[in-house]
Amino acid sequence: MKVLVLNSGSSSIKYQLFDMRDESVLAAGSIEQIGEPGSHLSYALPTGQPEMKKAVQTLPVPDHHQGFQRIAAVLKETGALANPGELHAIGHRVVHGGEQFQKPARVTPAVLSAIRELIPLAPLHNPANLLGIEVALESAPLVPQVAVFDTAFHQSLPSHAYRYAIPKKLYEAHQVRRYGFHGTSHYYVAKKAAEFLGKPLDSLNLISLHLGNGASAAAIQQGICIDTSMGFTPLEGLIMGTRCGDLDPAIIFYLVRETGLSAGEIETILNKESGLKGICGANDMRAVGELAERGNPEAQLAIRMYCYRIKKYIGAYHAVLGRLDGLIFTGGIGENADFIRAGCCEGLDHLGLEMNNGANRERRLGCAALESGTSRVKILVIPTNEELEIAEQTVTCLSSS
Ligand code: AMP
Repeated sequence: MKVLVLNSGSSSIKYQLFDMRDESVLAAGSIEQIGEPGSHLSYALPTGQPEMKKAVQTLPVPDHHQGFQRIAAVLKETGALANPGELHAIGHRVVHGGEQFQKPARVTPAVLSAIRELIPLAPLHNPANLLGIEVALESAPLVPQVAVFDTAFHQSLPSHAYRYAIPKKLYEAHQVRRYGFHGTSHYYVAKKAAEFLGKPLDSLNLISLHLGNGASAAAIQQGICIDTSMGFTPLEGLIMGTRCGDLDPAIIFYLVRETGLSAGEIETILNKESGLKGICGANDMRAVGELAERGNPEAQLAIRMYCYRIKKYIGAYHAVLGRLDGLIFTGGIGENADFIRAGCCEGLDHLGLEMNNGANRERRLGCAALESGTSRVKILVIPTNEELEIAEQTVTCLSSS
């Protein structure tokens, strides 16, 4: 039962092919710089070893349609998929599902137009996601396709958590509210944490920290998301690689008045020039960590600010959850940066979070428990796998529709 997962960006298509009988990865790769001179396809094949065999083909890929054809060709050449008709389904990552989509949806003309109508809410992402679906539909018209939304897991937020304290007509006429993102990842790691702890998800209160280039926190009560740090867009909340996270909105008006920058220019600064990059010049946490070790005060400040912001969210979500069973770290930083995990949990003993420093430093691969023997709250590293979650939700959506 082969399921292809596609994540289409404006100039890239990432893919993974799963055999859902055992959830094994049959092939994975991406096409980058579509429409540019440097367009290339990178792919990996299983070798029976933990490392997959990697290859790169530099080749002209003028558009997404050709991109899909190249992916189909490489899957055929490598024996992973004889032809797209062999697929059970294609699952697509779609960033914004608005209030319409609380779960995955089988792609129909009505679903396509609903995703199109949501473009004003996600102008950078939904058009590319939509293009990916349209291209896949053209190239594999008989294969069922499913859209899996990044916002869906957060649709359970109560109105007191998702509404902003602004005039209600801005919500009613313009849909200005908190949506939250990274939902597929938060849900996946919450499920895996429950499995790891040997308890049903609906018996657990969890805080999940997805810390990658983008970063967000989610408060999960008995398996249901009740709050999350990203808001109307992914700009709100935690400090990220290049995004500022929480900010006094009056700063924007002040900058317009004082600097003459346009709203669009300030939007670019807050999304692409801020966060870790804005504080210390580097947006990659490995580089920030190395700079800090060499004594760079700006990098040290960036790490303190990054962890301080997360601690504030842990405290807030602890308060709204009432009882906390587990804190989950995931994403490239959450899974790999022990100094960040340590910084986020430092001084939280009074909330029942006590880190085992040795276990934190030594954690290498897979799920791990990092709390000390006396910690009331489990502190977990759970590697995320959004592609596998999309594949699973695709299969579930089709079997129930
Ligand atoms: P993601 O967006 O989930 O791929 O995460 C990307 C972020 O993870 C980047 O900031 C990387 O620097 C960070 N990252 C990946 N590996 C490590 C590592 N070993 N130590 C520190 N940060 C890491």
